[in-house]
Amino acid sequence: MIIIMRMGAAKEDIANVLNKIETDGFKAHPIYGVERTVIGVIGDDREKRPEPFERMPGVERVERVLRPWKLAGREFHPDDTVIRLNGVSVGGESVVVMAGPCSVESRDQIMDIAHAVKEAGATVLRGGAFKPRTSPYSFQGLGEYGLKLLREASEATHMPVVTEVVSTRDMPLVREYADVLQIGTRNMQNFALLTAAGEAHKPVLLKRGMSNTIEEMLMAAEYILAAGNPRVMLCERGIRTFETATRFTLDINAVPLLKQLTHLPVIVDPSQATGKWDLVAPVSKAALAAGADGLIIEVHNNPSEALSDAAQQLKPESFGALMDDLRLLAPAVHRTL
Ligand code: PEP
Ligand code: MN
Repeated sequence: MIIIMRMGAAKEDIANVLNKIETDGFKAHPIYGVERTVIGVIGDDREKRPEPFERMPGVERVERVLRPWKLAGREFHPDDTVIRLNGVSVGGESVVVMAGPCSVESRDQIMDIAHAVKEAGATVLRGGAFKPRTSPYSFQGLGEYGLKLLREASEATHMPVVTEVVSTRDMPLVREYADVLQIGTRNMQNFALLTAAGEAHKPVLLKRGMSNTIEEMLMAAEYILAAGNPRVMLCERGIRTFETATRFTLDINAVPLLKQLTHLPVIVDPSQATGKWDLVAPVSKAALAAGADGLIIEVHNNPSEALSDAAQQLKPESFGALMDDLRLLAPAVHRTL
């Protein structure tokens, strides 16, 4: 439920309400607005009773939150969340492009690509060091050495790094090196990992499970938020449908729908969604037009030799051409790039 304090309610009244929430065994999430304070109450729904709060001084009214996602929902938090990553803002007017290889493969590879994507206008570097591969015989990533290389490339190009963490076991290591923790499609409902990400004090890029609904995605985000981490970005990366002509089917509807339902930034991954490099540019433009706050795009200096996702990675030249088009398109949808 949400407790809406009166305009200009006394500090003491607010403190008393916060106190009662905690002593009743709930968690309070106050939002101090310019005009009034609104307090979200999180905990077991069966035990929540609005009446005692309605009678407290300074309280205007108490409302039930109808949606099952509470911290992620706009009811609770009407304004867009803007996440700051060392100078890059995600979720504001400016659209963020994260780019880099599917996997970090070598120092030369990541350095080359990092400089190329930076040159083209990307502001966040992506790259996998721990790879969740379908086959145990496929390249699994360089692990800690890959993380070290990412850090080096990040420092050389002044771009924050997003990289995947595939298990709770790796969380302490990955969080040492990453600026943004990526939770992949295959782990979207790994609740232990979500809670660990909630406790990690790092922004999180949460990818939609390939067979999960929007509601399930928002509930996964809720796990991270409820564990105390407000810095969550949602990523639509394609879902399984009957269609097999493309690797996945990008649910473009999810973009404007998520923007209605949640205040969290929405990112689109056209690379995993299409699985084909020559579909990445048009689908990126569609995502920007649909209201995405950012894109995460795979770029490789030699895609045909890539150790993972060879068919979907853009060459730096194609990525540069796409960035030029996105810069032209952004003002038409009231965004900057
Ligand atoms: C990736 O970004 O390389 C990746 C494996 O993503 P997803 O979890 O969306 O498949
Ligand atoms: Mn990939």
